[in-house]
Amino acid sequence: MDALAHDPVEGAAAPAHARPQLDLELINIRKRYGDFTAVDGVSLKVSKGQFVCLLGPSGCGKTTTLRCIAGLEEPDGGDVLIGGKEATRDPPWQRDIAMMFQDFALFPHMTVAKQVGFGLEMLKKPRAEIAQRVQHILKSFEIDGLADRKPASLSGGQRQRVALARAMITEPRILLLDEPIGALDYSLRETVMLELKLLQQRTGISFIWVTHDQNEAFSLGDLVVVMNHARIEQQGPPEEILQRPATAFVAGFVQGNNVFRGRVKEVLAGMLRIETPVGMFLVPWVAPPPMLGSEVSFSVRAEQLTDALSERHVNRLSAVCTAVEYFGAVRRHVFERSDGEVLKYDQFGAHAARIVPGQRTVLGWPAEAAVLHAGAGQ
Ligand code: ATP
Repeated sequence: MDALAHDPVEGAAAPAHARPQLDLELINIRKRYGDFTAVDGVSLKVSKGQFVCLLGPSGCGKTTTLRCIAGLEEPDGGDVLIGGKEATRDPPWQRDIAMMFQDFALFPHMTVAKQVGFGLEMLKKPRAEIAQRVQHILKSFEIDGLADRKPASLSGGQRQRVALARAMITEPRILLLDEPIGALDYSLRETVMLELKLLQQRTGISFIWVTHDQNEAFSLGDLVVVMNHARIEQQGPPEEILQRPATAFVAGFVQGNNVFRGRVKEVLAGMLRIETPVGMFLVPWVAPPPMLGSEVSFSVRAEQLTDALSERHVNRLSAVCTAVEYFGAVRRHVFERSDGEVLKYDQFGAHAARIVPGQRTVLGWPAEAAVLHAGAGQ
């Protein structure tokens, strides 16, 4: 295994010297609990110093994947490579990783300084070195004033920094974080996220961050991995997931998409005519085109719709507005489609609303604004 790197997508093998420096590689990881499959063929490559977010709904297998990386679960199949070395059956302490949990799992009776130095004590580092490294990390996390305090007397944000300092003091290759800011007040989260991102960039440690919050994933991740039902649905940079959702699930999970399902009625040059329960729409295809008559799905982002129609807006739909909501500078109009699904139309800026609840409106979008999904109707 060590001598060969398998490409999970192509199924090809490359000699080790040709393999780019990866902090982590998962090759077709599978984990079952009795009859239940929690992780099903997960493959992932994490480059040096990457910030990776595992995103998905509750129960989709994010934590189990993380636990397989940490060595807290042994996969039933597949390989875990850390820094290019086979580590699938290594115990957690022999992997070049650290882990931070949502509840921070601080030791209640230990002072901040003591628990931050705990990892170095376990590694049997000299006492003077431990004291010096603890002092350094407490200072850089701006918690040196708390060195003698115990967790019970700390705020949520302070506890979070202590847990992070404890995890990072051993300078692991990879830091695994399971919903690390889930327990923080909403008002604190944005500041903490920014701090963590800067810290991650400064240290060059790869972060693998589990979350079900897409705002976290899209603002932090260099690579966002969307999971559903134990599998990876799509992985890529945030803008790719946002602009080109690969499946109906990803499009539906990401805020602001309108998802349509239908059947291919006509295959034109670069374009499909798709029949849906709410009308016929033109959607561009990327090779190879789906077969005539096949079931497909596509999505169009809420900000791509308009009620100021011109001949560009070849796709049109009449619907009744049910609500107008504000998200900061975005005004979202919610419509009910004739198939009972919701249609979202976003406008930016603070100009006066033109559409009010109860109003029937024709909305349109250009053909090229729609994205065809790879997975048929899923
Ligand atoms: P959440 O966001 O709610 O934490 P998750 O995506 O992290 O969810 P996992 O914790 O990985 O999901 O769990 C995936 C599935 O595996 C769930 O249905 C869970 O109930 C199941 N599972 C996890 N651990 C065990 C276990 N030890 N025994 C049996 N089933 C388990």
